[in-house]
Amino acid sequence: MKSLVLKPGREKSVLRRHPWIFSGAVQRLEGDPGLGETITILDAKGRALALAAYSPQSRIPARIWSFDPGEEIAPAFFREKMRRSLERRRDWLGGWDGEGACRLVNAESDGLPGVTIDRYGEWLVGQFTAAGAERWKGEFAAGMLELLPGRGFLERSGGESRGLEGLPESVGPLAGERVPASIRIREHGLLYEVDPWNGHKTGFYLDQRENRLLLRTGVEGGKVLNAFAYTGGFGLNAALGGASHVTHLDSSATALAAAAANARINDLAEARFTGVKGNAFQVMRQWDESGVRFEVIVLDPPKLADSQAAVVRAARAYKDMNRLAFRLLSPGGHLFTFSCSGRLSPELFQKVVADAAVDAGREAVIRKYLSQSEDHPVDLGFPEGHYLKGLLCQVG
Ligand code: SAH
Repeated sequence: MKSLVLKPGREKSVLRRHPWIFSGAVQRLEGDPGLGETITILDAKGRALALAAYSPQSRIPARIWSFDPGEEIAPAFFREKMRRSLERRRDWLGGWDGEGACRLVNAESDGLPGVTIDRYGEWLVGQFTAAGAERWKGEFAAGMLELLPGRGFLERSGGESRGLEGLPESVGPLAGERVPASIRIREHGLLYEVDPWNGHKTGFYLDQRENRLLLRTGVEGGKVLNAFAYTGGFGLNAALGGASHVTHLDSSATALAAAAANARINDLAEARFTGVKGNAFQVMRQWDESGVRFEVIVLDPPKLADSQAAVVRAARAYKDMNRLAFRLLSPGGHLFTFSCSGRLSPELFQKVVADAAVDAGREAVIRKYLSQSEDHPVDLGFPEGHYLKGLLCQVG
């Protein structure tokens, strides 16, 4: 059997059910395994601890499939994992009307490292970001279509984590019918057109579902700024909640066009929205200088820190944008501020937002701590799974 032997003491994280083996923990590799091949993880005394997928080029050379070394890593094993993942979301599955959208497999937190599968109505979109996930992706696509059932499975594997694993970008049909260029979904009663081929992630930010809904309360009659708007999710909810006006601010013209189209398909009057294309930092600075104010601001920037080295730079950017947002708020106004950078801890994020309020000369309280939606669970053994954090602040 091909195996990876850990240095003495480095079995601790495995015993605590953390699914990653870092290169620094490896004493030696035995049997020359190939890319994504299943290997046994042994402690320094030769005791088998787990079965994992091998990633030769990665800083994480092994990702654990099973903490039971007696398991057989084969299609039936993956089928069972996916079935359990669906079972965990049964309350979601029951309520679907063919337009529902939900994360079905949340990678490490559903016991399948590197495997993300999202459902948009009858269609499935997957991302495979580790060598083991890549090796078995055909099984995941065919298996999930059978379990649901769905009509077709599109692969959207790209991005830098794949690069770090030595895997090329891969986009295209994996199983079933060809996934269309646009899929209409419904979330909390609002319709959205999702572009699974070119949209961000697998097409939509499913992780913000509950936070978008929360925005509906307390916006009545207010002017709302949705900064980093993408396809308008927060803004549509604000309009539905009775906001007097919604400004979508984004650097992408494509995103703004999609946001406008999404307002139209929900019969929300065009006059209630303004789309502003620009760099959020610059535009907010100009608005501050000219005295523009909002009652509610949403700040949902893209991931700003993807390495430990980038955290300091990212913290500066978060502080800057939050300072500007605090300045733009009317007295009593609300700020929904987010960070999806997993490497920035919730504690550091809160500190950055606190510093931003001080710099803006505003008093503020946290009214609510926000997180990712329920279909993005966090395995207790894998705290890294909690990446999206947010604060609902109110200024004095
Ligand atoms: N809140 C959205 C998701 C936001 S994704 C939702 O719920 O669906 C982040 C968005 O920020 C993207 O649309 C991207 O185009 C935009 N963006 C990135 N950098 C930006 C910048 N400097 N200024 C304005 N928008 C930016």
